[in-house]
Amino acid sequence: MMGWPLGQYAVSIAVRPDIQVLFLKISFVSIGLIGPGWLLFVQFLTRRNVKLSKVAAIVSPSLIGVVAAIWNPNGLFFRAVTDHLTDRLYGPMFWLLSLTQFGYLFVTLISMYYAMKNDSSPQRRKQITITLTGMFVLTGFAVLDLFVNVMLRDYLPIVPGLLSVGILLSDLCFVVAISRYGMFDVLSMAQRDIMDHMSMGIIVVDDSNAVIEVNRGTEPFILVSKDDIFEMDKFLSPVEQQEEVREFLYRYRNYPQSRQQTEICWRDGRYLSIQMSPVLDDANNVLAKVITFQDVTEQRNHVEEMNRKNEALHERNLELILIQEELFQLNQKLEQMAVTDGLTGCFNRRYLMQQLEHEVLLNYRYGTPFSIFLFDIDHFKVFNDRYGHLVGDEVLCRTAEAVRGALRRTDILARYGGEEFTIYLPHTNREQADKLAERVIRAVEENVIAVGKEKVGVTVSMGTMTEEDFLAPIGDVKEYLRERFAQIDSALYQAKKQGRNCVVVAS
Ligand code: GH3
Ligand code: MG
Ligand code: MG
Repeated sequence: MMGWPLGQYAVSIAVRPDIQVLFLKISFVSIGLIGPGWLLFVQFLTRRNVKLSKVAAIVSPSLIGVVAAIWNPNGLFFRAVTDHLTDRLYGPMFWLLSLTQFGYLFVTLISMYYAMKNDSSPQRRKQITITLTGMFVLTGFAVLDLFVNVMLRDYLPIVPGLLSVGILLSDLCFVVAISRYGMFDVLSMAQRDIMDHMSMGIIVVDDSNAVIEVNRGTEPFILVSKDDIFEMDKFLSPVEQQEEVREFLYRYRNYPQSRQQTEICWRDGRYLSIQMSPVLDDANNVLAKVITFQDVTEQRNHVEEMNRKNEALHERNLELILIQEELFQLNQKLEQMAVTDGLTGCFNRRYLMQQLEHEVLLNYRYGTPFSIFLFDIDHFKVFNDRYGHLVGDEVLCRTAEAVRGALRRTDILARYGGEEFTIYLPHTNREQADKLAERVIRAVEENVIAVGKEKVGVTVSMGTMTEEDFLAPIGDVKEYLRERFAQIDSALYQAKKQGRNCVVVAS
């Protein structure tokens, strides 16, 4: 812009004619470039995309005038009237340049006027207003210069520097717009840049659903430009049969003051998250809506995959719990089997001996009396021979049951081997032992077992011992038990000798 005033000044002070021509041509080239310069500047100001092809299209008409000014064939652009170029006449090529410049001015003014009307930011409106004022001033001075110094130069005195004053004044306006209102607002440029590089689509619509801002992220979902009308109903019409969509549209229409969100399955199987955030004034009126779109297919797939894995894990877990339960039951069974006799269900000899080792020590420690019985079925060989082994087994079981019925819950009955059984009776002194031994003998004697139609029964002979004095301390508990069982065994032998079905107390 300063090319013209400076060039004009240089022409006025230059002495050599060829230097004057040079500076005059520089002035016209500067003027010739002001028009396209402005138009580009306005494009930038109104935030349109300016591509290289557009720049070329904007600049090329002005180049005709510029070339004409440099070439100036036969003075068709300008020629001197006197011997100094400050006083000059213009040819048709000059008018061509002027006309193109006014064309540029006209287009620029119109697009600025629309930008001022539509831009929502008051800051930017002020910028544009001041720039526009500057351009009006310049246009006014340019027209005045053209009238006074060119068209009416024969009737009016020459007023030098009219256009230069106009240029200086408009420069002043531009400087104010740039410095005071931050025309090159880095922050808003950065915001624009960020918005355009976001994968999330953003559309801002005003209260009449006209688009006032839109970024590139919306392109995969919808093609809208500023000033288009964005209607959510129309946008969602291809998927309106979805329940979520219907619900969202209902809320979008009826509750525009509150934030709304939904996630829908889009036409091509992708999942789309749509959110509407209202921009409200103090009275809760909706000034604008910020609508965002985000492709959440990947996240959703991840969540679904996680859920599937979780479910599989849960099922596996259940299976494991079942297996664990089965193992637990099996273990219990094994433990049970390890301590019981398979035929009679009584404890086995190994278990009883283990218990006794512990119990005997405990009883000795606290001086608690206890008794041990050992009994054997009488003439069981004969019984087996007569009724068979299976009946013998049955009688073994029934006999064990009868004995258990005669005992207390704390007494331990175990199969000692073959048709011999042993009983450990804790907290039992001699007197109690005698009574209990008698009770066992009688219980077996009275126990009638049905074998087919026949009723059979067996008797038992029993050797018993009771520990209640605790005279000598106990040494090796295993050795102690071996000795005691030998004594009980000989008492049992005595009982057999005495005619069976009786009790002999070990000496
Ligand atoms: P007693 O004791 O009165 O002197 O005569 P007994 O006939 O019982 O003599 P003995 O102790 O020698 O015989 C034991 C018999 O018990 C021999 C065997 O056939 C039988 N017996 C041992 N264990 C079992 C068993 O598990 N089932 C059956 N059915 N018989 C058994
Ligand atoms: Mg025997
Ligand atoms: Mg026997």
